[in-house]
Amino acid sequence: MTSVSDLAASNTGSSNLVAVEPGAIREDTPPGSVIQYSDYELDSSSPFAGGVAWIEGEYLPASEAKISIFDTGFGHSDLTYTVAHVWHGNIFRLDDHLDRLLDGAAKLRLDAGFSKAELADITKRCVALSQLRESFVNLTVTRGYGKRRGEKDLSKLTHQVYIYAIPYLWAFPPYEQIFGTSAVVPRHVRRAGRNTVDPTIKNYQWGDLTAASFEAKDRGARTAILLDSDSCVAEGPGFNVVIVKDGKLASPSRNALPGITRKTVFEIADSMGVEATLRDVTSHELYEADEIMAVTTAGGVTPINTLDGEAIGAGEPGPLTVAIRDRFWALMDEPSALIEAIDYEG
Ligand code: PLP
Repeated sequence: MTSVSDLAASNTGSSNLVAVEPGAIREDTPPGSVIQYSDYELDSSSPFAGGVAWIEGEYLPASEAKISIFDTGFGHSDLTYTVAHVWHGNIFRLDDHLDRLLDGAAKLRLDAGFSKAELADITKRCVALSQLRESFVNLTVTRGYGKRRGEKDLSKLTHQVYIYAIPYLWAFPPYEQIFGTSAVVPRHVRRAGRNTVDPTIKNYQWGDLTAASFEAKDRGARTAILLDSDSCVAEGPGFNVVIVKDGKLASPSRNALPGITRKTVFEIADSMGVEATLRDVTSHELYEADEIMAVTTAGGVTPINTLDGEAIGAGEPGPLTVAIRDRFWALMDEPSALIEAIDYEG
């Protein structure tokens, strides 16, 4: 793995061109696997090289990005957001991300104050300025702040939109996506339900997800799959869960985010003639699954090899998971309506 200090050391010459993003840690990718970074050079003479934020109408180098502590997005987590990604210079399903963001905002009675087309343009401009060919792109709409510090009257708050593009971040690094990983079902915490903090609106209220991550770590696993209050499968810290049983896919229809990756996984399954259904998935079905995959923008399609220390299927990445994972990454390069090339010269 390339460390930040390695990068700093490799960037002390007279050239402004660096082979990888400044400050980024490029995770190792298994040689010959479907996950490979672009090979390109970044012109670090631009202050925007390697990361850009758009805040209150201004493009800033990511290192200078700051927002008010009086924003209720911070104080009350009163917001919604989405994370899209750029791979090999193509942004993936931006339209779907914007639809989900604006749907969530509408449910929360938040007005982004920008049209979908305007948000798309600003997002693509952030990526273009950053020069990043592999990028993690965050768009957040908050309730904002008022003229008076700490204003409580919701009608007096000016909603804010923050957008940034930074080097790719992994929920599941490439090695785990290729070789699989481990999960537990937390004993001490359940996923918030739709009548509390609605998980279908993407949000930063990660108390349950973070507690689950700590429990996983304490029990020697990499991540957690949370159940809801009915003991049905909900989702994990930053991912949707898809199970495979007898050649069919299923994923929870409630108490989980309508993930863009899961939507893609279902479309891939459909193109392969594999049935995929959104429905209740019981904890029993989870333990008895032939294959389990964790699916997310920041982690593609990751096989779960073990659950609570017990093998899922053969305890290694299953055939459907592998086929879908490989197809998912192939989509990042194939011309289609799902991807749009970033105009880095524009
Ligand atoms: N569930 C949660 C709680 C998430 O935070 C995420 C993504 O960050 C997902 C599911 C997967 O959603 P997507 O595929 O749109 O990234």
